[in-house]
Amino acid sequence: MTQSHQIRIERTTAPKLKPKASDLGFGKYFTDHMFILDYDSDKGWHDARVVPYQPITLDPAAKVFHYGQTIFEGLKAYRTQEGKIVMFRPDMNMKRLNRSNDRMSIPAIDEELGIEALRQLITVDQDWIPDAPETSLYVRPFVIATEAALGVSPSQQYKFMIILSPVGSYYAEGIKPVSIYVESDYVRAVAGGVGHVKTAGNYAAGLKAQEGATAQGCAQVLWLDGVHRKYVEEVGSMNVFFYIGDKVVTPALTGGLLPGITRDSVIHLLRHWGLEVEERLVSIDELVEAQKDGSLKEMFGTGTAAVISPVGSLFWNGEKLTIGEGTTGELSARVYETMTGIQTGRLEDPFGWRVAIE
Ligand SMILES: *Cc1c(COP(=O)(O)O)cnc(C)c1O
Repeated sequence: MTQSHQIRIERTTAPKLKPKASDLGFGKYFTDHMFILDYDSDKGWHDARVVPYQPITLDPAAKVFHYGQTIFEGLKAYRTQEGKIVMFRPDMNMKRLNRSNDRMSIPAIDEELGIEALRQLITVDQDWIPDAPETSLYVRPFVIATEAALGVSPSQQYKFMIILSPVGSYYAEGIKPVSIYVESDYVRAVAGGVGHVKTAGNYAAGLKAQEGATAQGCAQVLWLDGVHRKYVEEVGSMNVFFYIGDKVVTPALTGGLLPGITRDSVIHLLRHWGLEVEERLVSIDELVEAQKDGSLKEMFGTGTAAVISPVGSLFWNGEKLTIGEGTTGELSARVYETMTGIQTGRLEDPFGWRVAIE
């Protein structure tokens, strides 16, 4: 840790009661502390600190409220069976955070400082890491533009913050497949836009389609590309994989989809197992055909929150297309078991993805 990575720590004098493991859910509870780093155009990024978790005060003219200059990340920390604390590929999150910053005209953050901030904050709040099976500490770094000015131009001031939330098992009743609505009216992103970075507007813009999917009894939307409305891009806020014949296919990173760290890890893992993985354009017509001729065996989403989310059926053009048997496929289950095993320390980590804290 260099001089510039010094982080001041102010501990709370009023620790909160911790929720029961069975009440955790996702993103409902927050720990006792948070990390803050300020930016202004004179000083650059400065004043790194861990402080008691607290509301922040912003001017109503703060640019984030008006023009959405903001980005975020999401990763998890785990308590291993031996009691160690580990994070999963935090370097990838810091790299992506800076790619998002760059796209949204936010100044870059020292990636080592970001990782050191994660270490220190998680260490201070380590008693909040749940240890029941399949629970974890969800970590949310984010940046907001705080300058009070209504001109449309990059803010001269920002805050980078990290908050922590203990989260429960995503699959309290066991991993189970979801129904997906193929969205052909609304689009999520177009190449050249901001679909490849984690910025708030992408998610606000997706809510309307999500409401429609829910009304149809589906859990999520399958997004098609914004230009041709033909090529599959993502499922909800997850990347998507198809097991067709003896190959695994996932949409190529064409600019309209988010380069997921789970996606990257799953591609590595499948290739490590000797499976062929193709990153290419996948049209909805190809999928419908593969479903009809029986070669589409499995489909699953990937992302930090759920890790793997198997898809049991697709609703498209008024038709319900069942994927495989409509149950969790063998490959999906194996990927889920192995990924969570590597992440939580239950299995060996041949790729060096786990980063221990302390
Ligand atoms: C975060 C995110 C993902 C998944 O990324 P991970 O790094 O695997 O968590 C996929 N799609 C969208 C739109 C996302 O925001």
